[in-house]
This record gives sequence, structure tokens and C-alpha cells, in this order.
Amino acid sequence: MQQLTIMSDSTRTQAISAIASVPAGTPGESAPVNIDYYGADVFSTEVMKKYLPKDTAKTLLSTIQDGLPLDADIAADVAHAMKQWAIERGATHYTHWFQPMTGSTAEKHDSFLDPKGMEPVMSFSGKNLIVSEPDASSFPSGGLRCTFEARGYTAWDPTSPAFIKDDCLYIPTAFCSYTGEALDKKTPLLRSMHALNREAGRFLRAMGWADVTAVTPTVGAEQEYFLIPKELYEQRRDLRYTGRTLFGAMAPKGQELDDHYFGTIKPRVMAYMKELDEELWRRGVMAKTEHNEVAPAQHELAPFFTTTNIAADGNQLTMELMQRLAQKHGMVCLLAEKPFAGVNGSGKHNNWSLVTDTGRNLLDGGSDPANNLTYLLMLAAVMTAVDEYQALLRITVATAGNDHRLGASEAPPAILSIFLGEALQNTLMQAACGEGSTAAARRELEMRVPVMPHLRQDDSDRNRTSPFAFTGNKFEFRMLGSSQSISDPNTVLNTAVAEVLGRYADRLEQSADREDTVRTLLQETLEQHGRILFNGDGYSEEWQQEAERRGLLNLRTAPEAFAHLTEEKNVALFAKHGIFTAAELTSRQEIHYETYAKCIRIEAATMAEMVRRQILPAGQAALRELGQTSRAKQEISPLLSCKAEELLGTQIANYNDMLLAGCTLLENLLRDFPSGTEEQKALYARDRLLPAMNELRQAADALEQMCPAHLWPMPTYGELLYGV
Ligand code: ADP
Ligand code: MG
Repeated sequence: MQQLTIMSDSTRTQAISAIASVPAGTPGESAPVNIDYYGADVFSTEVMKKYLPKDTAKTLLSTIQDGLPLDADIAADVAHAMKQWAIERGATHYTHWFQPMTGSTAEKHDSFLDPKGMEPVMSFSGKNLIVSEPDASSFPSGGLRCTFEARGYTAWDPTSPAFIKDDCLYIPTAFCSYTGEALDKKTPLLRSMHALNREAGRFLRAMGWADVTAVTPTVGAEQEYFLIPKELYEQRRDLRYTGRTLFGAMAPKGQELDDHYFGTIKPRVMAYMKELDEELWRRGVMAKTEHNEVAPAQHELAPFFTTTNIAADGNQLTMELMQRLAQKHGMVCLLAEKPFAGVNGSGKHNNWSLVTDTGRNLLDGGSDPANNLTYLLMLAAVMTAVDEYQALLRITVATAGNDHRLGASEAPPAILSIFLGEALQNTLMQAACGEGSTAAARRELEMRVPVMPHLRQDDSDRNRTSPFAFTGNKFEFRMLGSSQSISDPNTVLNTAVAEVLGRYADRLEQSADREDTVRTLLQETLEQHGRILFNGDGYSEEWQQEAERRGLLNLRTAPEAFAHLTEEKNVALFAKHGIFTAAELTSRQEIHYETYAKCIRIEAATMAEMVRRQILPAGQAALRELGQTSRAKQEISPLLSCKAEELLGTQIANYNDMLLAGCTLLENLLRDFPSGTEEQKALYARDRLLPAMNELRQAADALEQMCPAHLWPMPTYGELLYGV
């Protein structure tokens, strides 16, 4: 870790002028994006066909496309082909790339070098491809295993394509323990996709869709992030240690003019986005849309959707490349959920749908949605799943970082609800009563400009405040935090929907009159789960009260949510579908509590350090300056008033006292951190540390506003948010 020094005003001024003189870079400067690059570094179906014997390619593709068990006999051939292809592209190493419970990715590189005889050769065996055994003892396991039982295995996930990065062949893998328990976020996701395929398949067959053999959940994850100047980032201990600012008075201008959202993209950011696109495209991540977001310095990238596990891998790669390329362009990419108080935080929108192997999107109502019974039942299934498993969905987005967003009038509330829109809700109700096609014809959009093209209005307007919104042909789960893996939310979504579709299949398989059963199912759904539908303003205070009346859960903080993970209903759901054993769930709950407590503890320690070493000394320097000024005044004339110095000095001295008291309290709380269960630690962090941290911040931010700019020891919000 680089040595941190207390920054004087001149270093900051230098940094700011250095930034100003960084050539902005133009899109033309980086290599031109050429769409021929697309997928160039991916071991794709085409590459497989080219490098593999015909029969082997066919066998492998049947695993990938039809979900057949992997034939271990072909591993040697596939490994050989992968190695050939990779070394032709300059690779020297390979890695089993996996997603431990930290939420990020892990990798250990091995070279292809093999000392056969005198001359080393490049070798890569079938076994090297299929399985690897990293020492698993230092990854979070939540008590699933002891350090001395360190064995863990990574197993190749052939359904997510291998790719090359940094001269290394990346093989997507799942990570499990010696006894087969999942130690990662990928394994449960794959298990949930399997369960959903099984239950959705049964459901569709019962609905008469005989030709469908596979159903896959698809996901497009929109990713928000901030970009700030690297030089300034390095001068903030809070950003460096915790990824977010723990102090900072708001700049005079924030997002109130709405002038950043979709605004013109600055040249340096544009150059960065171009290069990011290219790097992602090379690796098969189809980055599609990018724009400025609401807060100053905030941006978003949305990829084209794909199969869930590939989308999860793609999102991890996106987050990694976003951070790495920002550095190259003299910036730092912040993925924390709430890097700055006072402006919007960053989230991730998880767009989710189901597609059949025959190419049908099950959440697309088609030309006659009111009479499309499969579609209506799919909507009902999602309603039921979200209502019954509210707590589980809430848990999948519960982190210390996301607690600063959810429910803070800029992000969805902590309450789960679904937006369908009036029109669709009416269609559902009419279908439940057996009244089919009364859906109103879509109106034309009245723009009152004769030269404009004729547009038809969508069935419903959007509702940005809904945590779980139907957006035409997919559901958009909007509670996710920007830094988190999308695996957990999709694991729960897939499993809960699988469960409900399974129940529908049971009923439909027994039914003599399909239409009648569908109607009954729709009626039951509206009766039992209609409470989850809400089209109004999710940010409003009234909704909090209304939701309580409806009996919806409002789990305001992460630890409150974690407690629900091991509820009987949830344990039963996961056990039934083979996603998690009770032991796996308990271990995950431990990890959630532990990570939450550790994050806050690090933040608290960082605050204490910043106050002692930077902020208090700045306050004292300000007092010294005032003293000098009043002495100078007295020298000029004893008649000159020192009122201003006295007033300012008194205020600053007060804040200094508050800071020292607050800091001492926080240090004591940290010293007394309990050594009990992980849950106790999390609750202590939430109930003791966080309030003390908030107090301390208030005093520091007030001091910042009184302190001469040249004495303030770190870049301000204004400098950070408007620096690029
Ligand atoms: P917005 O949320 O701004 O309206 P879009 O409607 O364009 O954005 O879509 C956002 C994301 O939804 C994109 O990543 C897109 O690929 C994804 N998406 C679109 N259709 C589907 C689908 N059937 N399944 C999953 N994701 C989808
Ligand atoms: Mg969106």
C-alpha cells in the first residue's frame, strides 16, 4: 500500500492542475473499434468447430446447448484444442476463474509449460481443464469447513465460454468443497437454472407446448458507476480503504438541475467507454448502451441480455475491466453503492426473462396478451414467487453498502412490490373472471407536430420507483447494489419461480379442463398475492404505511434481512430444488453477517484515523491562522476589532471538541467490539458503530465548511464530482 501523506493545499492544487493538463483523449486515439473484434478472444462455438474433431465438437455442443451431462472422455480433446487456440493467440497461462463468496472473482494462473524430457513443451490435459484444486482455506466458507480441511475444487462450467485475457486462458468454473458443498455464487446459480428448466418444462408441457425441450432464464444487467480523477482518489483515505467517501460537505451544485442525466459525454469518458466496449466485445460481452446517469460523474453501461450464468460472468468481467481501464485513462471507477452522500448512489438493474429453446420469450404477451394463458400464468407465477419469497429477494441485495441506498428516496424502498401497470393488471383480472380479449386498443401518441412519425403508446408508462417492474417483455429487479454479484438475486428468482411453476404443473397435469384451471390459478393468485402489486410512488411515505397495512415485509437494514435466510419456509424451498442444504444456508448467513460487520468496522477505523491524522489537525491549523490574524490586527492597531476571528475561532474550536469527543467514542466502540456470534457483531456494527460514525461525520462536514480551502486536507466533493 502506498504511503499516505497528509496533503497540503499545494499538493492538491498541483494535482488539480495536473488533471486539467491531462490530454482529454479523443475517441480516435484508442484503437478504432472494429466489429470484427467481436468475440475474438472467446472460445466460441465457431472456434470449437474449427479446432475440435467433428464428433467431439458435437458432443460438447450437446452439453452446452441441450444441458446433457459432460462426457469426461472428450475433455482431453477439448483441452488440447483450447490450448492450441489460446497459444496461437499469445496465451502462456490458464486459470480456473471462479466466484467465491466475496462477491468478486478469484483466479490462480498456471503456465502451460511442462518439463517433458529436456525441452519444455506447452501442455494442458483434460484433467487440467475439468478440475483444479486451489487451497480453499482462505475463502469465506461461513464455518462450512475448518482451515485444516482446506480442499476445494473448481470444476469447469462448459456452458460459459472460456476466453483470453492478459495472455491467460480463463476457464469459468464453479467452486465447491471436498464434500461437494458450494463455496461460491456460481454453483447455486447453475443449480437454480437446472431447477427452473425442469419445472418450467413441466409447466409448458402441461400447457400443451409439446415442442419445448429447454427453458433458460435470460438476464441483462445494467451497471451504474462513478468516474473520478485518479490523482484525487489517491488523496482520499476513505475512498482507498472503503470505496466510498466517509466525510465530505456537499458541493454547492449536485444533481438538482438534472443536467447530467443523458448529458453529453465528456471526451475523456467517451474514450474510456470506447475502449471498454472494445475489450468487452473481444470477450463476447455485448456492451450495448452507455450514458451519463443522474449524479455528476455517474455513468451506466447496459449489455445485451444473455443466458443467466453467462450474464453473471459477463457482469463480473465488466466490473473488473471498468476498474482497470479507468486507471489507464487517469480515472478511478467507483462501484460502491453510495460513494457520495447527497447525490444518487449506484445500483444494478437485473432484467430477467425466460426463453424456450424454440425461441419464445415466455414474458412476451404477443399480439393477443389478454388471451395468452401461458403468458398470464407466467405473470402470476412471478407475482407469487416475489410475494412468497420477499425476504429471500431482499436478502440477495442486502449489504452494508446497499443499506445507504434502499429506501433513501433515490432507489427503490426496502419493500418488495411489483409494478405491472393498470392496463396489464386489468387484463389479468378480466382473464381471472373469464373475460378474455377486452384489452383496450393502444392509443396513438399525440405529439401535436404534424411532421413527426406516428407512434403508438406503450401499454403502460414506466414506474422508476418500483423495485420490481414489468417492462413489456421482462421483469426488472432494481434493488441490486452496483458492486454486487448478480448471482444471488438470480438464484433466488429462478428457484422461487421454479417452485411456483412446479405447483402450476401439478395442478394442470391433474386437470381435465385446462382453461378452467388457468382461471382458477389466476383468481387464486390475485386473491392471495394481489397485495404485492403496486403501481404508485414507491419512494413516498404513504407507501411505507400502505405496505405495512398489506402485511408486506419492510426489512430496513441488512442484518434484519439476513435473519430470514434460515426460516423454515426458505430452507424447505432450497432443499426441495437441490439449491442449498441447510448447512450451506447457515454458512451463507454467517458470511453475510460477517461481511457486513467487517465492512462497517473498516469504515469506522478509517474515520477515526482520518479525524485524528487529517481533520483535527486541519481544524487546529485553522485556529492558528485565526490567532495569527488577530495578533496581526493588534499590531496594526489595538483599536481594530477581532470580532470575526473570535466568532470563527469559537465555532471551529467547538467543532474540534466535538470531533475529538466523537472520535474517542468511536475508538472506544471499536476497542469494545464484541467477540460473540457473527450476528451479534453485525448488530453491534449497525446499532453502535453506525450512529457514532454519522455523528462524527456531521462535525467533520461542518468543520469543512468553516475551514479555509488551503487547509482542508483532502479533495472536496466539488473537486471529486466535477474533476474529470
Ligand atoms: P431500460 O431499463 O433503460 O428501459 P432496456 O429496456 O433497453 O433499458 O433494457 C435494459 C436491459 O434489459 C438490457 O440489458 C437488455 O438487453 C435487457 N433485456 C431486454 N430484453 C430482455 C429479456 N428478454 N431478458 C432479459 N433481459 C432483457
Ligand atoms: Mg433499467
